[in-house]
Amino acid sequence: MIPFVDLRAAHAEVEEEVLAGFARVLRDTAFVQGPDVAAFEEEFAAFSGVAHCVGVGNGTDAIEIALRAAGLPEGAEVVIPANTFVATAEAVVRAGLRPVLADADPETLLLDPDAAAAAVTPRTAAIVPVHLYGQQAPMAALQALADRHGLAVVEDAAQSQGSQQAGRPPVGLAATSFYPGKNIGAYGEAGAVLAASAEAARAARLLASHGSERKYVHESFGFNSRLDTLQAVVLRAKLKRLAAWNERRREAADRYAKLLGGAEGVRLPAVAPGNVPVWHLYVVRVAERDRVLDALREAGVQAQIHYPVPIHLQPAFAGLGRGPGDFPVTEAAAGEILSLPMHPHLTPEDQERVAEALVKAVG
Ligand SMILES: *Cc1c(COP(=O)(O)O)cnc(C)c1O
Repeated sequence: MIPFVDLRAAHAEVEEEVLAGFARVLRDTAFVQGPDVAAFEEEFAAFSGVAHCVGVGNGTDAIEIALRAAGLPEGAEVVIPANTFVATAEAVVRAGLRPVLADADPETLLLDPDAAAAAVTPRTAAIVPVHLYGQQAPMAALQALADRHGLAVVEDAAQSQGSQQAGRPPVGLAATSFYPGKNIGAYGEAGAVLAASAEAARAARLLASHGSERKYVHESFGFNSRLDTLQAVVLRAKLKRLAAWNERRREAADRYAKLLGGAEGVRLPAVAPGNVPVWHLYVVRVAERDRVLDALREAGVQAQIHYPVPIHLQPAFAGLGRGPGDFPVTEAAAGEILSLPMHPHLTPEDQERVAEALVKAVG
C-alpha cells in the first residue's frame, strides 16, 4: 500500500525532541499557555515573515478569530471561493457574517479575481482568499479589488505554510491550521492567526482567551481557543524541518510532472507565474474520476478527493440559496480532481508505481 500521507515517518524525525519536550511540560505541568507556546508563536511569525502570531485551538477557529479581529459589521457579506474545504464557510457563519461564494480559475482552481469582483455588493466587508493545495491565490489582484471597495482581506493559509508569491502584498491577517495532515501538523488540533498589526494580534489573543489578558478581567467578548503547550512542543520541532520538508514536496511534484507529463488523459496541476507552492496536495484531473480512483485503490495507491462536493451543494449550506450550475468551474473540477499521494517521505520508487497505476487506469 502506498499511503496518502506518512505521519509516522515525520514523527520518526522529531521523536526524540518531542518526547524530551513532553517530559519537560509534564514535569512543569504548564499545559496551557506554557513557555513553548510563546516560543512557537515567535518562531512561526518569523518563518512566515509576519510580525505577530497567535496560537489558537484549530484552523477553523483561526479563520473565525481573524474575521472577528478585523472588526467587520455584523451580518456583512464575505466573499469566499466555492472551491475550498467547508471550514472556510463555517468560520464566516460562526463569525456572524454571510458567506458569498465565487467560482475558481479553471487553470489553478484558486479563487478567480473576476468572479470575486462580480460577487461584491454594497454589503460586502471582506474577502477570504484560500491558498488551496499549497499555492497562493492571486493576491495582487484580490488586494486591488479589496482596496477598490474598502474590504478587509483575511487569508485562509491552512494549506500553504511556507509558500511564496512574487510581488504579493504583505499579509494583513491570515489564518492557518496545524491539523495533523497539514504540511506542519500537530498531534491533535491546533491553528494560528497571523497579523501584521499589534492591534489585530491583541484582538485575536483576547478573542481566543475569554476576552481576558489578566485573570478574571474580561474586557471584550471572547471564548476559549488556545494552543496547547504539548502541541506547541510538536510544532516547534516540526517547524525546524518545515523548509526542508516543503523542498522535498517540491522535488516530489517535479518527479510526478516528469512521470506523468506525456500521459494522455491526465491533466497536471497548473502553477501560476510567480508562485512557489508547497504542494500540500498534488491534484491531477482525469475523466471518469471515480472509476480511476477505484482502480488506483485496487492497485494499492491511496488517492483521495479534495473536495468531492462543493460548499453550495452541501446540505448544510442549502441556506445560501445556490444550486447546481451556479459555479461551473468548481462543479466540473469536483468530478475530475484526484489527489495523489504527496508527503516529504514519498520515495521515487513509490511515485513510479503511482504513475504507472494511474496511466493504466486512465488508458
Ligand atoms: C484544514 C483546513 C481548514 C480548517 O482547519 P482545522 O484545523 O481542521 O480546523 C480550513 N481551511 C482549509 C483550506 C483547510 O485545508
